[in-house]
Amino acid sequence: MMFHQLFDDVSCTYTYLIGRRRGGEALIIDPVKERIADYLALLETYDLKLVKAVDTHLHADHVTALGALQDQTDCLTVMGAETDADLVALHVRDGDRIDVDGLSLTAMHTPGHTPDSYSFLLDDRVFTGDTLLIRGTGRTDFQGGSPAAQYHSLFDRLLRLDEATKVFPGHDYKGRQVSSIGDEKAHNPRLQVEGVGEYVELMNALGLPPPKMMDVAVPANRRLGRADDGKPAHRQ
Ligand code: FE
Repeated sequence: MMFHQLFDDVSCTYTYLIGRRRGGEALIIDPVKERIADYLALLETYDLKLVKAVDTHLHADHVTALGALQDQTDCLTVMGAETDADLVALHVRDGDRIDVDGLSLTAMHTPGHTPDSYSFLLDDRVFTGDTLLIRGTGRTDFQGGSPAAQYHSLFDRLLRLDEATKVFPGHDYKGRQVSSIGDEKAHNPRLQVEGVGEYVELMNALGLPPPKMMDVAVPANRRLGRADDGKPAHRQ
């Protein structure tokens, strides 16, 4: 398998480029608009054809590259069925498979950070978006977030995966690249709770400031990162 984890150091977003072989097809998860040149260069280096671009949810902290990648590579854009984003080519629901060149990702609906949050399981690894972070979890205080829904997504879904499953999150703010379900169960401070009530209390007490990019990113991401005048959306 070809697997590249890329990092946007402005939004601390991880992007994943996945394929099976040089010269084959590829899929990308959570691409960032300003990094599109990096993705296109990687695709060229490995002679990969991008066939699917997936967002784990409608992001508030960076502008997605989904629209730009579709325009430049003709790939299919993929998001969860619950999303507010327009013009998504392929909507997935819980349990759906996303295939690329013989690899198969299973969509897991893991709402809580947003109603349209999905995780994607690929063999020994899971891409958790902003549902499960390394030693953290995605905030639940805006964009229709729900700490109770997130509790169930974590405890009834993600933490029931094999403990050896590698966790590749949507962000990390301290440079950590990968964890495992077992490590997060044991060491993630947000997961050391007695039940849903304690988790809801913990999340509601975080008092985080709104993300800097939110007013720009959310409307832009409803258009898959395209500007409303047809020009590309950029960071302010
Ligand atoms: Fe997010």
